[in-house]
Amino acid sequence: MRDSGNAPDASLPFDALEAVDDLDDPVADDPLEDVPPADELPAEAGEDGSSEQLDGIWDVVVVGAGPAGSSAAYAAAVQGRRVLLLDKAEHPRYKTCGGGIIGPSRDSLPPDFKIPFQDRVSAVTFALNGRFTRTRRSKRMLFGLVNRNEFDLRLVEAAQQAGAVLVTGVTATGVEQGGADRRTVAVTLADGRSVRARAVVGADGSASRIGRHVGVTFDQIDLGLEAEIPVPERVARDWAGRIHLDWGPLPGSYGWVFPKTDSGTLTVGVISARGDGERTKAYLADYIRRLGLSGFTPAVESGHLTRCRAEDSPLSRGRVLVAGDAAGLLEPWTREGISYALRSGRLAGEWAAQVAEAEAPGDVRRQALNYAFAVKAGLGVEMRAGKVMLEAFERRPHLFHLAVCLIGPAWRAFARTTQGHITFAQILRQYGAARRLAALASR
Ligand SMILES: Cc1cc2nc3c(=O)[nH]c(=O)nc-3n(C[C@H](O)[C@H](O)[C@H](O)COP(=O)(O)OP(=O)(O)OC[C@H]3O[C@@H](n4cnc5c(N)ncnc54)[C@H](O)[C@@H]3O)c2cc1C
Repeated sequence: MRDSGNAPDASLPFDALEAVDDLDDPVADDPLEDVPPADELPAEAGEDGSSEQLDGIWDVVVVGAGPAGSSAAYAAAVQGRRVLLLDKAEHPRYKTCGGGIIGPSRDSLPPDFKIPFQDRVSAVTFALNGRFTRTRRSKRMLFGLVNRNEFDLRLVEAAQQAGAVLVTGVTATGVEQGGADRRTVAVTLADGRSVRARAVVGADGSASRIGRHVGVTFDQIDLGLEAEIPVPERVARDWAGRIHLDWGPLPGSYGWVFPKTDSGTLTVGVISARGDGERTKAYLADYIRRLGLSGFTPAVESGHLTRCRAEDSPLSRGRVLVAGDAAGLLEPWTREGISYALRSGRLAGEWAAQVAEAEAPGDVRRQALNYAFAVKAGLGVEMRAGKVMLEAFERRPHLFHLAVCLIGPAWRAFARTTQGHITFAQILRQYGAARRLAALASR
């Protein structure tokens, strides 16, 4: 049974993993940010975080400048709204992530966006807990790999070019709704200040403060661990264009090697249901050893929780919408989240622009419901299919392994999913064999 607690974030240094199940202050425990606390910023911080800059009533305030937030800010700004994009970190910043950019992510980027590819993947080596290895190749690129610091910075810049104002080094702590005029809400900041807006998008990641305000609930929480391993050129060359996927020893777990060839680094990670941090950590150590990479010293070791929303979890409250990880929008089987963040972020930005225009509470409610419908009709359907896949995979990972390694159509379905030509929901709907495989595996 999966963990369904409404638990806090765990984006933490690798050494602190023993305590991974006991964390309870997401903001304090998030080590991604090397920034000074907002209350240590000078009163007149100039371009970032000065009181003057935050003054006034914004049409849309977006909290969090990851893919969801930048996408939301871009979408609202191109509609001509006054948009403020806040982040507690300074960009570029490190983010624990494989940086896999699949077709749906590529298709959801702002026009003319240049993806800062580190590598283009056209081959996959599959393994079943280190055994029965088989490499499959595709004539066409499957998906791309990026370093998140570069990718996220470009997304922020795209939002700024569309007119959004970026303020970094400020941590949002919550939202106060229902001010005297009922037409604005206030985002409260850790330094005691607040920012007023007609609409707010919460895109502050998987330990979201804004999500907590909205009442987001989760029914799946997983722990992802990663090591960024710089390797000599000959090793990097060997991995160029090829990823490794290992169906792991823990239920629902898998491991990956994502080569960041341009920077001579391999991102090696594992993910597994939260609750047994030690075994997840041991899986990563074993995996690295089996791959023959334990002789190289990682430049970064980190962990982060991923959370999938419960099906009845809210996507808005009053004038506040949530997107991306903050809303628990994530592919349940692969835990792919960038495309979910980009897609829900764009929708949130578009509908936040409408919420900002709305005067009467009934209008606000209608626009917020439109956002929820749009998310549920697209990503909601995908998440349901992903849960079916995960349930089957948890019980019979070897069937998935045999299918992708030995059955041509299964490998092609895998390839086409990564390329964005088909989705898991479409596969389950259109292919009886896939439905039968999922049903067999779930028994
Ligand atoms: C180990 C691991 C590997 C992964 N690999 C992949 C992959 O290869 N491909 C893929 O598609 N997905 C992957 N994911 C998932 C993906 O990283 C997330 O789904 C994605 O980053 C979500 O984007 P987001 O914008 O919603 O949140 P985030 O990227 O987390 O951005 C949130 C932003 O909000 C800011 N913030 C947080 N709190 C506050 C606050 N209180 N006030 C102000 N700002 C705040 C943060 O600084 C951050 O910039 C992986 C996840 C993990 C854990």
